[in-house]
Amino acid sequence: MKTIYVDNNATTRTAPEVVETMLPYFSELYGNPSSMHFFGGQVEKSLREARARLAALLGADPDEIVYTSCGTESDNTAVWGTLRSYPEKKHVITTRVEHPAVNNLANHLRRFGYRVTEVGVDREGRLNLDQIKEAISEDTAIISVMWANNETGVIFPVEEIADLARGRGVVFHTDAVQAVGKVPINLRETKIDMLSLSGHKLHAPKGIGALYIRKGAKFKPFIVGGHQEKGRRGGTENVPYIIGLGRAGELALAHLDEENTRIKTLRDKLENGLLAAVPNSMINGDRLHRLPNTTSISFEYVEGEAILIHLSELGICASSGSACTSGSLEPSHVLRAMGVPFTAAHGSIRFSLSIYNTEEEIDYILEHVPGVVAKLRDLSPFWKDGRPTDSALLAGTASCAIRH
Ligand code: PLP
Repeated sequence: MKTIYVDNNATTRTAPEVVETMLPYFSELYGNPSSMHFFGGQVEKSLREARARLAALLGADPDEIVYTSCGTESDNTAVWGTLRSYPEKKHVITTRVEHPAVNNLANHLRRFGYRVTEVGVDREGRLNLDQIKEAISEDTAIISVMWANNETGVIFPVEEIADLARGRGVVFHTDAVQAVGKVPINLRETKIDMLSLSGHKLHAPKGIGALYIRKGAKFKPFIVGGHQEKGRRGGTENVPYIIGLGRAGELALAHLDEENTRIKTLRDKLENGLLAAVPNSMINGDRLHRLPNTTSISFEYVEGEAILIHLSELGICASSGSACTSGSLEPSHVLRAMGVPFTAAHGSIRFSLSIYNTEEEIDYILEHVPGVVAKLRDLSPFWKDGRPTDSALLAGTASCAIRH
């Protein structure tokens, strides 16, 4: 059976070019970059080059990059590092649709006595900037808003929020784990103070991330230890992975146009094809301001998990909601925050493409998904004679919005 991998917001294939670049650093080039001798020195030089490559993808200075182990560590580092720098400030602003790396951190902060405001989104998953403006108070230390949502792909106006934050003397952090490599980023032209990214979302391996910290931003380290990363993150550098991330950054920059042309065209073909072939289907999220590779599509009156199992048997790897939240039958917190009707939220599937996907693969998905949905609907008490039953229509009016 062939594998059709369209779950790239969960993780990506490590690019063969990245693997090739990393390999010597597991074998002959194993020196410690902090060592005084030539053997460590040559590794230190490669690290410097890799840092410059990643910085180029972000429009940042190499010194503004701090390596971490993953996106989650970057997010935690940004938030805790800022809160510890402003001990008198006890307020954090974020959104209801963040990844658990920020969302659960926000709940955790409450237990430490912080006040957290989580701004909501509208039915299209869009933020209202006025709500952020109104939430800022004298003791707001940090605003953390993701650049792009991992489930719907909706892109937030982070540059405008950064301007707003700077004007009010508040640090602005963005979780750009899903945006880096998919949308152009030039941090020099923004007022973003901190940005998180994760290697495994852009064809580098799992286990490497980075945090951009703007020069001059107040920051206290989250992991305290040696002098590595200019004292901002202790621990001997993960040399092969950092080198791999540098190469992945270089490749992402080279493929940025393709993401926004070929991949976007494939995504649009997929979603338009599905909308046309499957009755009672809908796209979740603002179709205009979205990542080029992502579609979240709901097939009403079927369980997303049941669709996934059938697709998996056909070799198609997709996801229902976030990979981190699937496994539970609760609709995702993102779709709930958007107020997606209950019957649609349950039947949501996320397809997320990468440069490795082909048109033949999209055709294969289009050939099979409508039949899978039709088969499952035939088994559903909510579907009869090609349409939802009256009781299904009644249930469909109930929204699964979170009431805060
Ligand atoms: N933030 C977002 C938006 C994500 O999509 C993810 C992973 O799915 C993370 C953070 C966490 O990244 P990592 O898996 O590298 O910890």
